[in-house]
Amino acid sequence: DSLKSLFQGGLRFDASEEYLEFRFLVLNAAMITGVLFTAVFIALDWFGVNSLGWGQLLATEINCVLTAALVFVLRGRKQLYGLVSALFVVVNYATFLSALLLVVNDELRVIWFFVEVVFIYILLGLRAGVAMTVVTMASIIAINPFIAIPFSRNAMTTLLIGLGVTSTLSYVYTKRAQSFFQRMRQGMAELQELAEKDALTGLLNPRAYYDVTNRLIWLAHRTSSPYALLFVDLDHFKMINDCFGHETGDAVLAAVARTLSDHIRQSDVLGRIGGEEFSILLPDTTPEGAMSLAEKLRAAVGAIDHSSVGTELLKTTASIGIAFKQPSDQTIADIQRRADRAMYQAKVAGRNRVVAESR
Ligand code: GH3
Ligand code: MG
Ligand code: MG
Repeated sequence: DSLKSLFQGGLRFDASEEYLEFRFLVLNAAMITGVLFTAVFIALDWFGVNSLGWGQLLATEINCVLTAALVFVLRGRKQLYGLVSALFVVVNYATFLSALLLVVNDELRVIWFFVEVVFIYILLGLRAGVAMTVVTMASIIAINPFIAIPFSRNAMTTLLIGLGVTSTLSYVYTKRAQSFFQRMRQGMAELQELAEKDALTGLLNPRAYYDVTNRLIWLAHRTSSPYALLFVDLDHFKMINDCFGHETGDAVLAAVARTLSDHIRQSDVLGRIGGEEFSILLPDTTPEGAMSLAEKLRAAVGAIDHSSVGTELLKTTASIGIAFKQPSDQTIADIQRRADRAMYQAKVAGRNRVVAESR
């Protein structure tokens, strides 16, 4: 994990960026390894163990410096991933080409092209992989007459077929990995949806609602901003079920949920916390604002046209209780309890009305 944070330079990737995170890691590991390996080549040359010749030594030194620069450029900037990985590929490709041309006494230097093809698939994807395979094959064929000891016809055949097989395998494997990551991302999103949403109305379920609102209440106390809570309970809902059937009741609940959603702000949090009970937390809202919204919601619920799910006779009304911020609020449960009491008073007073807790 500390290796991971070293490579990522404190960056955070969210769940939807899993594949990018993987490639980011591979790119960093490849670049750092690249810097170390070229440094070893350079050192071996300086101490006379190896001999690259002055041209390739220079090319290797340039590679080492540029790659080290790329490592620093990429640090902490995931938006530069595409550019940096493309530059890294180009720098190495140029180095391997110059090795092919300039280094006479290394029969195996062509192996680097095989390594590079695999990396291109991982770093830049399928199309870049195919394109660079073709470019690599073409440039090896084109350069061959100019290298000191050209590959024989047999060697060239082996080389090209080997590159083709490596590229095909990398293609298949990369495609698999990509679809795997994508399905995993979809699966996680579906799971999250299932865990947080109420299936009938699409609103937050109680657990998710309490989770989100608890944080907002904590935040509101920290920033000294006001908030209020509306508790909406439909009137005589049992009668709707009894007269029109449970399925119609469900459709009515979905319609009420839509109406409530349509009338609140993006920053308000709406959850279905009971069968026909909805709770709405209004962050950054004054008591006056909360009361006028509650009245609007009451009117809107009363005005819903349910004729599409059964009969024009079907009318819904709601009783709404309001509670306001209190310094003693620790959790959503504290303010919800007061909104509950206010809602109950609305029921007692005759339903289809808004009652705010006394301040
Ligand atoms: P009031 O609130 O005005 O006092 O009367 P009410 O009839 O609404 O009473 P209460 O809140 O106690 O009952 C709620 C009823 O809502 C009970 C149940 O049959 C119905 N209900 C709860 N959840 C669902 C649901 O998911 N679908 C349907 N169709 N009905 C539900
Ligand atoms: Mg109820
Ligand atoms: Mg009710």
